[in-house]
Amino acid sequence: MPFYFDTKSLYDRSHPCCYPSYFRKMSQQLSIAQLIAAAQEFGTPLYVYNADNITAQYQKLTSAFAQTDTKFFYACKALTNINILKHIKSIGCNVDCSSINEVKLALLAGFEPNNVLYTSNGIHFSEIEEAQSLGVHINIDSLSNLEKFGKKFGHSYPVGIRLRPNIMAGGNIKISTGHDKSKFGIPADQLTTILELVAKHNLHIQNLHIHTGSDIKDVDVFVKGIEVLFDIIPHFKELKSVDLGGGFKVPYKEGDGETDMILLAQKVKEAFDNHPNPNGNPLQVWFEPGKFMVSASGYLITEVNVLKETANTVFAGVNSGFNHLIRPMFYDAYHQIENISNPTGAAKHYTVTGNICETDTFAWDRNIPEIREGDLLVFKNAGAYGFEMSSNFNSRYKPAEVLVKDGKAMLIRKRDTFDDILRNQVL
Ligand SMILES: *Cc1c(COP(=O)(O)O)cnc(C)c1O
Repeated sequence: MPFYFDTKSLYDRSHPCCYPSYFRKMSQQLSIAQLIAAAQEFGTPLYVYNADNITAQYQKLTSAFAQTDTKFFYACKALTNINILKHIKSIGCNVDCSSINEVKLALLAGFEPNNVLYTSNGIHFSEIEEAQSLGVHINIDSLSNLEKFGKKFGHSYPVGIRLRPNIMAGGNIKISTGHDKSKFGIPADQLTTILELVAKHNLHIQNLHIHTGSDIKDVDVFVKGIEVLFDIIPHFKELKSVDLGGGFKVPYKEGDGETDMILLAQKVKEAFDNHPNPNGNPLQVWFEPGKFMVSASGYLITEVNVLKETANTVFAGVNSGFNHLIRPMFYDAYHQIENISNPTGAAKHYTVTGNICETDTFAWDRNIPEIREGDLLVFKNAGAYGFEMSSNFNSRYKPAEVLVKDGKAMLIRKRDTFDDILRNQVL
């Protein structure tokens, strides 16, 4: 796990001797000193993202797949701040959207329509029409919208089909999207109906898409998905690409693995070499990594409001909650927690909770260097589905966001104010 955030390297990097040169090199991890400086400058709770880490993740993908014709679309629902999108564009990556507003954000960030993909699910046809008018790639995920699209556009606008491969995969049922009870995609067993629609409206099918879930470590899951596609590909004469979705696993805790990109790239290449496209040119392989691109780049810095000693545990209550980082409560996700105010303190057990009126436990009985009130606790791997899933629950403010790039910390979203709480309320 070359880029795993271990505490030892963190301390080394924050060592004063290493500090200045560390800024000049591309660094995958922010140092304690950088995180503390950001908290002092911008206040807490605070999301901080490291642009270098995003770049490094993208390079991992492109170097692993150097032998295959690939195109990577960052699934931006993981983190949509426009400054992140601009960084994604600057490193040559494309973008995958889950709503028409994300499409608009991507275009506003400067992406060419040809580098924007809208993978829809369950949306009204009017959004597909709007995406068409903006000129972006579209994956359609229902027979009903496919039929409407055919009626309106016929062969004139190339389009993709999102299929449901009927494969069970992913970290848990909430984040599995390709199984035979999932709402996502047109079930592969309805191929006959799809083909009837395509023929009836002379649809121009350019891409076939599958996305089986999130947090997938086993590369054979992707291979299984490809195998489902190989039976379907020959039916589409104008196909240019196949889109294998996202869902790559990242390590959240020590001992966790990451999807082995080198192995995956090998297996994907083998599979396509063994199944040349019967209808012409080799197919370009598309991926839509979300979490993989931004998870480890992000840190949520919080401050300890209160310590509460009880018979069973010591609670460390921070100035945040699931209104800012919902993954622990929503997915039982594990986020590593560092006490950057006392990194060498003697470890004790703490239950880390938030300050909202609802159970918002971040970690139960976690071993953390001694915590004092006022200490800064940092949640790692907070880049993906962190800020993006935040809310104003309890009428609290959403955190500010900061991007560290070229050694500089830039504010990329202001902290909410009371006006934001009232905005849109009719007084
Ligand atoms: C959410 C999503 C992704 C990204 O999933 P990750 O687990 O974040 O990589 C990719 N494609 C589609 C269609 C998605 O909805």
